[in-house]
Amino acid sequence: MDSTSRSSAHVPHPDTVAVHAGRADFAALGVHAAPIDLSSTNPLPDIEHGGDSYEAMATGRHPLAEGGNVYARLWNPTVARFEEALAELERAEASVAFGSGMAAMTAAILAHTTAIGKRHVVAVRPLYGGTDHLLDSRLLGVETTFCGQDEVHKHLRDDTGLIVLETPANPTLDLVDIAAVVAQAADVPVLVDNTFATPLLQNPIDLGARMSLHSATKYIGGHGDVIAGVIACAEPTAEALRRVRAITGAVLHPLGAYLLHRGLATLPVRLRAQQENARRIAEWLEPHDAVAEVFYPGSHDERGLVGRQMRGPGAMLAVRLHGGYAAASAFIDGVELFTHAVSLGGVDSLVQLPAALTHRPVAPEARPAADIVRLSIGLEDADDLIADLARALTAATAAAAPVPVSAAG
Ligand SMILES: *Cc1c(COP(=O)(O)O)cnc(C)c1O
Repeated sequence: MDSTSRSSAHVPHPDTVAVHAGRADFAALGVHAAPIDLSSTNPLPDIEHGGDSYEAMATGRHPLAEGGNVYARLWNPTVARFEEALAELERAEASVAFGSGMAAMTAAILAHTTAIGKRHVVAVRPLYGGTDHLLDSRLLGVETTFCGQDEVHKHLRDDTGLIVLETPANPTLDLVDIAAVVAQAADVPVLVDNTFATPLLQNPIDLGARMSLHSATKYIGGHGDVIAGVIACAEPTAEALRRVRAITGAVLHPLGAYLLHRGLATLPVRLRAQQENARRIAEWLEPHDAVAEVFYPGSHDERGLVGRQMRGPGAMLAVRLHGGYAAASAFIDGVELFTHAVSLGGVDSLVQLPAALTHRPVAPEARPAADIVRLSIGLEDADDLIADLARALTAATAAAAPVPVSAAG
């Protein structure tokens, strides 16, 4: 349904958008679940129509109507349906989906730097290890200046094409004031990695960011069975991103798009329940004797961004134990309900040590401390999760305790 055909000014709640977005044509199609189009190629009505449509898509525009899809690296209707739904949820004009979050990040960097003759990116640390690695690697022919969120303006150059930030940031849940970075950016586009917040808790485009990027692998998919990325933005930016996607081939498979679209419907309820579990767990961890520090936006929010920029603190937290790495390692070995695994945002709870895994490629001076443990809180019962953590903390305390003197004899 396009906005001009709405009879009243009633704006549907995001919960409703999450369930109904990308489904407006279902009744006309006579279906109740999204059709999956697995065609790699498409029959063409005639040479000129096919060629014109190819030309449109190779430059990032939509295909011509009536048999203009041509080839699935350029356009796939199942992927486009998910993109339309995600855009509506992010309150953006468009979105562009990719084969992974890193493919999305790569396309965003290329489209705003080498594609337009710029060679410099300013990136606010901390970032997800893979993003930091990509920017630091110079693999894309781009130089990156890393800085804190208040220093962005000092590092802008004539050839700066993009500013990259992540909030809440991986893994210490640092919050970055998006509007304050946009205010420093002059006319340089700002990309916000919105993976941890999801479109339900934070809409960076409303705050002046050019792009809101998600590793859809995480909360949007929510079930640990899809690798994908997506960027919400205005249509001119979407064209630039689709052009890079068509040329480099970083496409999302339609089966993945189907699962992501299905995942959107339950995203609001999943996120609310996971966030509530995380709040209970953070409150339980904070006064615990074995715990040295809890990183959680619900209690560490120096800039007052929860409630202003974010509609809630999210469902991620990190913890540092007394006893350092030995305690952290025993803690991870000690959990049973939590799975020791990278990734996050799914229905089941995960635990990992970022310095050893997700943030291993980050330069030593910017790498998180070796004993920070990251927790992704799932949908299990909070008391069961707390019982699991309690058991693991007992093991961690024993591992970190000094060896009794008598044992030496
Ligand atoms: C996982 C992650 C990415 C990378 O996404 P992939 O889908 O793994 O390529 C980017 N940013 C953040 C914050 C992430 O957690």
